[in-house]
Amino acid sequence: MRFDIITIFPGFFTGILENGVMKRAISTGLIDVGIHDLRNFTHDRHRTVDDRPFGGGEGMVLKPEPLAEAVESLGIAAKEGRDTSRETVVLLSAQGKRYTQATAREFSAMERVVMLCGRYEGVDERVSEALADRELSIGDYVLSGGELGAAVIMDSTMRLLPGVLGNEASSEFESFGRADGLMPPCDEGGPPRSTHGAGGLLDYPHYTRPAEFRGRTVPEVLYGGNHEQIRKWRREQALEKTLRNRPDLLEHAELTPEDRRFLASLKAKIHRA
Ligand code: SAM
Repeated sequence: MRFDIITIFPGFFTGILENGVMKRAISTGLIDVGIHDLRNFTHDRHRTVDDRPFGGGEGMVLKPEPLAEAVESLGIAAKEGRDTSRETVVLLSAQGKRYTQATAREFSAMERVVMLCGRYEGVDERVSEALADRELSIGDYVLSGGELGAAVIMDSTMRLLPGVLGNEASSEFESFGRADGLMPPCDEGGPPRSTHGAGGLLDYPHYTRPAEFRGRTVPEVLYGGNHEQIRKWRREQALEKTLRNRPDLLEHAELTPEDRRFLASLKAKIHRA
């Protein structure tokens, strides 16, 4: 899979590409990344990428022509003829649709994702109309530029690609992971998987050694060796964490009758407290 990022700050990505999972994914050839300096697609002495807004107002706006030339230089199909199940052009924007794990999954099935990073007051609207397939926001806050958003999308997408994390299953059993029903069954009697299919829930708490840290001990169930009890405890913890921190996720999560009974008793307990 290939990512292309168009930015006025190509140096921004140096650290991101040279560390951890991303570095390994690049060096093993699982992903290809191209960082393109938008100023290379200007034709004036000052390499101008921005201009004042029509209608007046604060700040500067990124001009459409350099962005168009940059996208066209990548050999990607024009918007009208683009097969968006294989390749897509994304404009990072605070006004975009919210980027989620579901979008990451959708992107991970593609061959190519091109990302356009805005700056200043934003990007001439015709870029969204004529070049990009979608505008995406990484959250309800305003960043200084699209670079952080592009890095977030690239990181969360590439770790879903087969082979990138080493253990194929691990990305499925994290926060926002797929439902148990969609996943291959756990080996009978084998060690418990990480989250047992979070089913759109948040991940459960993790512990490692030492067994006691500043007077706080690891929940006993985790070293009892009873896999069924561990699975049940983890599921309940994931449900509890989701109820407390992100109750909105429960509306669409795949819940079993057992999950619903547990949540009802938890809500009653919270109500009484
Ligand atoms: N005037 C814009 C607005 O109010 O929506 C904000 C522009 S922001 C300062 C500059 C650039 O940062 C945007 O063009 C976009 O590329 C990027 N950006 C800002 N917030 C973002 C977000 N939540 N998600 C993705 N990109 C964002």
